[in-house]
Parts: sequence; C-alpha cells; structure tokens
Amino acid sequence: MKYYSTNNRHRKVSLREAVIQGLAPDNGLYMPEYIPVLPEFFINALADLTLGQIGFEVAVRFLDDDVPEDELRKIIAHTIQFDAPLVAIEKNVYCQELFHGPTLAFKDFGARFLSGLLGYFAQQENKTITILVATSGDTGSAVANAFLNVPGTRVVVLYPAGKVSEVQEKQFTTLGKNITALEVMGTFDDCQRLVKAAFMDADLKQVFFLTSANSINIARLIPQSFYYFYAYAHLAKTRRPLVVSVPSGNFGNLTAGLIAKRMGLPIAKFVAATNVNAVVPEFLKSGVFLPRISKQTISNAMDVGNPSNFVRMLDLYNQEAKAFSNDVAGYSFTDAETKGAMKSVFEKSQYVLDPHGAVGYLGLKTFLQAHPEYSGVFLETAHSAKFMEVVEEAIHTKPELPERLNKFLAGKKTSIPVSAKFEELKSLLPSLLA
Ligand SMILES: *Cc1c(COP(=O)(O)O)cnc(C)c1O
Repeated sequence: MKYYSTNNRHRKVSLREAVIQGLAPDNGLYMPEYIPVLPEFFINALADLTLGQIGFEVAVRFLDDDVPEDELRKIIAHTIQFDAPLVAIEKNVYCQELFHGPTLAFKDFGARFLSGLLGYFAQQENKTITILVATSGDTGSAVANAFLNVPGTRVVVLYPAGKVSEVQEKQFTTLGKNITALEVMGTFDDCQRLVKAAFMDADLKQVFFLTSANSINIARLIPQSFYYFYAYAHLAKTRRPLVVSVPSGNFGNLTAGLIAKRMGLPIAKFVAATNVNAVVPEFLKSGVFLPRISKQTISNAMDVGNPSNFVRMLDLYNQEAKAFSNDVAGYSFTDAETKGAMKSVFEKSQYVLDPHGAVGYLGLKTFLQAHPEYSGVFLETAHSAKFMEVVEEAIHTKPELPERLNKFLAGKKTSIPVSAKFEELKSLLPSLLA
C-alpha cells in the first residue's frame, strides 16, 4: 500500500515516509492509494473476534508493504491494551466507551499505534527518533504515555504555562525516562510555532531525527477504524440499520469511521456531531465550507474552526458534497443543550457523560427522532472525570476518579521552563537530548 497527498494523487510515498513526514511537503494530508475491502466472511465473523484480532486484520491491509506481520502483531498488542465496550443507555441507544486507555480519552488509540510504528522504524534505522509535540492538554498526555519506554524514541512536549489543567499537566510532567516536558511562557500558538520552526531548522535536522505526533498523521487515523468494526459486531444482532454518531473537532475520528464503511462495514449512516463550531454540519446542509476562528465551549477538544481532516473526507467522496451528505448527517449543539443532555441522561439512566460524549448523544437522538427504525451508537471519547468541573455543574454529583488518574495526580511534576523564543529552544535541545 502506498500513500498519496490530498494535493496530488500522483505523487505516492511509502507508509514509512508518510508517517515520518506527517504532513506532505505540498501541505496535503496523506491518504491510502485505495481503500481495501474486507471479505464478507470476515464481516460475518466479527462477533467472534477480539478488538486486537480485528485491529490486526484491518491494519495488515494498510501496512503490508512496510511492516512484517510479526512486528505488526507486536504493534497491535502495544496499541490495544484496553477494551472499547458498548453500554446500553436507552432503547436502541448505545454508548461506545473509548476512554479505557491510560490517559482516559480515545486519542490513546492513535497515539499508541503511532508510537509502536515509530519504535519499529527507529529500530530499523538504528537511530533515535525525537518526537516534538505541542499540546493544549490532551494530545501531549496521550503521546507522552504512548511513547514512554518505547526504545529508540524520545518525546519533547511543549505546553503553555498555566493554560492546561492540573490533571492534564501531571499526565506528561510526571513520567520522566524518555519524556521531557517544556513549560513555555506563552500560548498554545507559541508552542505550535516553536515546533514548526524546529522542523524547518536545518541545523537541528542535521543532528536529530525529528518527527511530529500531530493528529493529521495517517498512523493516528488507521487504528481509529478498529472500534467501529467492534461496535458493529456487537450490534449486528439487533438486525436494524446502524447509525454511529461521532463527536467531532478535527474530524479524524469520523474520517476513520467513513474508511471502515468503505472497507465494507455495514454502518448505514454517520452523524457528525459538533458544538457551536459547526462548519461541517453547515457544509452538509449548504454544500459551502466556511472555516473560521473557533469559539470556546465546554467540549473544548472539539473547538476547531478549520477542521484539518475535512480535505480527507472530501477526498474519500471525490469532492462530491452530495455523496458525502448521503452518508453523513450533521448537527450542532450549544453548551446549554450539552449540559441539558448530561443532566437528563444522568437522571434517566444514571450514566455520567462527559461534555464531548454528550454532544455525540444529542446528535444521535436528533437523527433517531427522524429515523426511528435505526439502532444507534454514540462514541464517548473521554472519561467524565477529565472534565470534573463541567460535569459536576451539570449533574450536581462528582464523577468518580479512576485509579489511573489518581496515580498521575500523586506523581511529582518535573518540567523545564522556556521562553517562547525559538533561539532559546534551539540552544537548549542538544543538552536535553544528549
Ligand atoms: C480530540 C477529541 C475529540 C475530537 O476528535 P476529532 O478526531 O478531532 O474529531 C472529541 N472528543 C475528545 C475528548 C477529544 O479529545
């Protein structure tokens, strides 16, 4: 399997190049040259397979040229160390919990698969790969925990001082070993600018094998398709058409679902559920894409005004808005509606939603109102304890703190303060990475 850039279908690269580059040199996003279709007997046998077995069968079709099967089995085992269970919430309404990984959000799937792959490439090259990642919170924790103790890799997390929550900060500043946290005296945008400048810097490139763990990386997308197969496997027995609602920001998660459908998975419909940052739901109605500056909401991991994976979704549908909107319905919700859903689901079903999952729930309910013949799943992308204050305000009860969050909170923070000047970072890196 080769990969092309969404800006040029004719220039193809290997998976290895696509993963190490992240973004294509022409600023396009990498896509597989074709979507492999899984045999029908595989779809029919899904209910007997574990998430790891599904993951292997899906991934092997994308990685066959670049990773030997025994290595891929190791990468899958490293990625899938937790379940993605389905929980019945109401009649024909299921929640798929994607937060059972080490940092309690679905980003653990993508980050762990990426770390397994880069660890393998580092071993092949006999080099140490340095991953630079700018974070406003969740990405840094998922990436740092995924790469912890992976031989041949080291991670430098840049985060804005005072602008991430204590729980988030502890998830990447207490690890030590091959993980270094830089506390930048500036904003998230400063962190991103520093990372970009480092990638462009010829001197640093000579000394370090630098790569990014950005969410546009194709290696973060592939494992996100696994759990859609798992959801279908558990609901096929309802014998009703299936709709999956995906709370979305940059739309990597929904793109992975659309790829799963193209691989032959019988999911009849998807819902693109957003907060008031609604450029994709608007596009699905009007056919016009109007990116803009994002607005801040309580589902802040979805505060995206110009979703990076939009070009991938259009590419999947050959730029045809009509075909895209046949498969995907889009709805957006305000913070008040989101809190209302958290409250009513808690009262009716004693289930505690996080604000992102609540947006997914609302999208699903809106779709089911018009299409009662469906069974539906919404993806719960984070554990409610990650958004303690919002949840407590909505349901007047404290969500319970899972053991693995407590462990982070008990750890000792170690970070290196740096200014937002690139020259300072540049002179610091060699001593950090010696
Ligand atoms: C990143 C994130 C999302 C959005 O996922 P995309 O793939 O960017 O659409 C939703 N919920 C949570 C909790 C997240 O961390």
